[in-house]
Amino acid sequence: MMDKIAVVGAGHVGATTAQRLVEKNLARSVVMIDVLEGIPQGKALDQWQAGPIEGFDGRMVGTNSYAEAAGAELFVVTAGIARKPGMSRDDLVKTNAGIVRSVAQEIKQAAPKAVVVVVSNPLDVMCAVTKQATGFPRERVMGMAGVLDTARYRTFLADAIGVSVEDIQAMVLGGHGDTMVPLISYTTVSGIPVTQLIDRATLDKIVERTRGGGAEIVGHLKTGSAYYAPSAAAVQMVEAIVLDKKRLLPCAAWLDGEYGIKGVFCGVPCLLGRGGLERIVEIELTADEQAALEKSAEAVRSTMAATG
Ligand code: NAD
Repeated sequence: MMDKIAVVGAGHVGATTAQRLVEKNLARSVVMIDVLEGIPQGKALDQWQAGPIEGFDGRMVGTNSYAEAAGAELFVVTAGIARKPGMSRDDLVKTNAGIVRSVAQEIKQAAPKAVVVVVSNPLDVMCAVTKQATGFPRERVMGMAGVLDTARYRTFLADAIGVSVEDIQAMVLGGHGDTMVPLISYTTVSGIPVTQLIDRATLDKIVERTRGGGAEIVGHLKTGSAYYAPSAAAVQMVEAIVLDKKRLLPCAAWLDGEYGIKGVFCGVPCLLGRGGLERIVEIELTADEQAALEKSAEAVRSTMAATG
């Protein structure tokens, strides 16, 4: 358990993340910060009162200032606007870069030793903005996207094959966008290569549905984007760090030559423990997967240019 975890943004993803964190007893106190007056306070009070029913003793605090988050060991950043139908994640870049930059500066002042898990979109670019504005090392700034994209892929695969989601092992790498890279060569069902259990055409359809997984939900909701699975994914990363689990999860990490890519955030296999991002694991990729990863990193780099 940590003493204090802060969640910035008390909207759909932020509030759901805060609730999952406290219900899992990952912190003695979860602080939710938003610019909207009353919203974080009201939501936190409501969530705190679920303690006797759900069985948690953690304190929920909602606030508009960073004073209550001073010294927090970990921040989850969900502040910013979400997609509406017809928008790509990259369409959010200008607005969210300004928001995330100001949030990162506050974090640096309030908790200079914190680990930061970024969720705001466009994800990989917002990670770079956070790293630049905090000056934190790459071990302490990472992004959530791969865990969510992989969960979507595993859900669709398990459904198509007719097995438990627990038996699907997979990883989706690359940037969090249309160029994400589901690794078919590493997708197994209890160790059996997935290609032995499903035909290629169905697999290709699942890969496409995974790529458009976020947009499919935006299309239904119309007024916002997904938050139940995204918050579960962010909390899985936080849990790996808090409990020092050494989990190997696909996360957005600052690459410094790994996979032949440098100076950009991109989704790669990362070992998460109490030190944050403790190690980037380099695995062998097929020529197609390597090319797709490089293309995805280039797409992130060109969106990064738009932040000025
Ligand atoms: P939302 O609109 O419900 O909530 C965003 C909240 O941020 C709002 O309450 C808003 O008041 C707050 N906010 C704005 N500026 C702020 C600031 N300077 N400081 C603190 N709070 C501020 O949106 P949401 O559905 O919760 O999504 C949040 C972000 O997460 C979006 O950018 C969305 O695209 C992204 N997202 C990412 C993933 C992923 O896989 N990485 C998945 C889902 C959503």
